[in-house]
Amino acid sequence: MLRWSDILIFAKYSNPEPPRRLHKNEAEWAALLTPAQYRVLRQQATEPPYRNAYCRSYEPGLYLCAGCATPLFDSTTKYHAISGWPSFTQPLSKSAICYAFDEGHHMQRIEARCNCCGGHLGHVFPDGPAPGGLRYCINSESLVRVDE
Ligand SMILES: [Zn+2]
Repeated sequence: MLRWSDILIFAKYSNPEPPRRLHKNEAEWAALLTPAQYRVLRQQATEPPYRNAYCRSYEPGLYLCAGCATPLFDSTTKYHAISGWPSFTQPLSKSAICYAFDEGHHMQRIEARCNCCGGHLGHVFPDGPAPGGLRYCINSESLVRVDE
């Protein structure tokens, strides 16, 4: 189980080795993704709170990266954070996600990215539920839910 101290070490020193790496240029991404997915995954946009696909959805399944289909989260770790975005307590595996300090919007936050394609997912916060205490606040546009 990952804890906040692990996330800080990943962001500061070295991220886990990804299961694979996928590189595309921006024109390829633009052709592959919907405009809304492109804005989130490739331009670090944040979708509107509540008016997004998975905020209130608790159907069982796996959440894949919308850019490269890497499995990122399991529905069993999804919880109601009242944030307006789908929220998870843990990633599916330690190596699925990489982290970086994000100084934008006059805040210091830790950005969560797909470790395979580098797509922006959202941010991680240390105010999640016990025992891990993490809250992965993720844009619905960066995810695709599939049945397990
Ligand atoms: Zn990806």
